[in-house]
Amino acid sequence: MLDVFDRAQAREAELRQDALAEHQRRAAAVLGQEGDAERWRELSAEFCEGTGCGAPIPDRRRQLMPRCRLCVDCQGRKEARLKRSAG
Ligand SMILES: [Zn+2]
Repeated sequence: MLDVFDRAQAREAELRQDALAEHQRRAAAVLGQEGDAERWRELSAEFCEGTGCGAPIPDRRRQLMPRCRLCVDCQGRKEARLKRSAG
């Protein structure tokens, strides 16, 4: 029961991430950072910089989000933390 719920949440987070990546891509174009998309290999971290994590970040994520430094898990945790402290 909880497992199904967790999976639904993970899927939702994934969809949100894609929407966010698309939004950031458009914002980058407006800000004149289009080059980021081509330089994702140097801009994005190859391994997660989250404390005690170091998980490899999938190329797809690095491509979608140039300049990303965290894996999906750490990013999610960070956002949850920010949400908690904001609310
Ligand atoms: Zn991580």
